[in-house]
Amino acid sequence: MGSTVPPLSPEKFAKAFADIHPAFEPQAATVEATRCLFCFDAPCTVACPTHIDVPRFIKKISTRNLRGSAMTILESNILGLSCSRVCPVDVLCEGACVMHGYNKQPIEIGRLQRHAMDYFYSHNPSLPAAKKAAAGHVACIGAGPASLACAAELRRRGFAVTIIDKNPLAGGLNTYGIAEYKFRPSDSKKEVDLVRSMGVEFRLGTEANIESLQHEFNAIFIGVGLGSTHRLNIPGETLPEVVDALKFIASYKTSSIRVGRRVIIIGAGNTAIDAATAAHRLGAEEVHIIYRREQDEMPAFDYEYQLALLDNVEFHWHTQPVRIHGTSAVESIECVRVDKNLAPIPNSNFTIPCEMVIPSIGQTRLVDFLSRCKGVELRNGCVVVNPETGQTANPKYFAGGDCVNGGREVVDAVAAGKRAAAGIAKSLEANHG
Ligand SMILES: Cc1cc2nc3c(=O)[nH]c(=O)nc-3n(C[C@H](O)[C@H](O)[C@H](O)COP(=O)(O)OP(=O)(O)OC[C@H]3O[C@@H](n4cnc5c(N)ncnc54)[C@H](O)[C@@H]3O)c2cc1C
Ligand code: SF4
Repeated sequence: MGSTVPPLSPEKFAKAFADIHPAFEPQAATVEATRCLFCFDAPCTVACPTHIDVPRFIKKISTRNLRGSAMTILESNILGLSCSRVCPVDVLCEGACVMHGYNKQPIEIGRLQRHAMDYFYSHNPSLPAAKKAAAGHVACIGAGPASLACAAELRRRGFAVTIIDKNPLAGGLNTYGIAEYKFRPSDSKKEVDLVRSMGVEFRLGTEANIESLQHEFNAIFIGVGLGSTHRLNIPGETLPEVVDALKFIASYKTSSIRVGRRVIIIGAGNTAIDAATAAHRLGAEEVHIIYRREQDEMPAFDYEYQLALLDNVEFHWHTQPVRIHGTSAVESIECVRVDKNLAPIPNSNFTIPCEMVIPSIGQTRLVDFLSRCKGVELRNGCVVVNPETGQTANPKYFAGGDCVNGGREVVDAVAAGKRAAAGIAKSLEANHG
């Protein structure tokens, strides 16, 4: 690689990726909990896709019953720890808090949830065993949030469950994708271990062979998420320093990586912002985001955009990459300005010197794999399901998470996994009388 920045020492890495929202001190958590109005028909609970009973768990924090509070959270959301750290709370529970109507700060639901979950995981985390064994063995393909939630709910109902994932570590994007200053692989492992402790079997490092799984299991949950980043289709993109945003993020989170001194990110979604802030924290001196539309159309949440600005990321609106220059290594990127209709503006080409380019223009769909799931209907590369049960057009297959919704949030994947587990349970119980 051309001019790169050496990997950070473990101490510098920990400092650069320190928690973005530090945990509450115990006293502060109790004080914040007592601010809650414990609303009847609480809008925060309605706004949460997993419908955590927010006033109930906050009430338990106010009486310092932290294990009880965590159990309330886990009843609705087995990934209560990750969701407390990664959920976009301002557009979900905290966005719905009645305090806004009184011109007051919303209750810090996310941090309170983290307070209860941190207590749970540091005090011998365990859950009550399933009450009865039920007839049926279910395969969950993928070990991301959707499958973990589906598997946990099925175990609660007594079914045997095996999770299969091609990656060596379970957790899906909770392990490999979420920005390190929000959630670390070691935290993701805690949640995976909790699901394992419920009796779920894991086959990791194993690409799912759908034909053989079909014979081995009574029902199959598809929770495979999405594929790699779309290609740019411009000259120069095969140079070694052109790195898919997802691979870049997974590499820095699970091993050490050298970033270019000057890094270009293409795209302006939440993943692009995560790649940009990571490049900055890993030591890049300049980080540019190139986006072909205007600021208002940027898919990233405003909160994420603000994070990028704080990390000195420079945004180039109405700009499209044309070619990446370099013979054996990336040297610069050539761009063109585009108008509102994305038509190139004549004579507006310019180049930005750089040593690394990170495309982040959305994820592909896993159409090859999904097409092998016989009878499963696809629309735009996503699995079509009954929204109530997660069941596909083939009654043996259920699905949920990013491979169904096209890419949303962790909490949506958890809600879908849980819903599908109820659908699978109903279908297996009907088959076994
Ligand atoms: C960079 C990035 C940052 C994000 N940040 C946030 C955030 O801050 N907050 C938030 O709420 N959401 C965030 N999201 C979205 C969130 O991570 C996803 O919505 C969620 O992980 C989807 O869960 P899932 O289980 O459907 O898929 P995934 O988490 O993608 O898990 C799918 C799993 O299936 C496995 N798999 C795929 N194909 C096969 C196969 N053939 N055989 C075996 N295994 C297979 C994969 O290895 C993977 O482990 C982010 C997403 C990205 C890409
Ligand atoms: S809406 Fe706000 S005040 Fe009401 S229960 Fe939820 S967190 Fe508490």
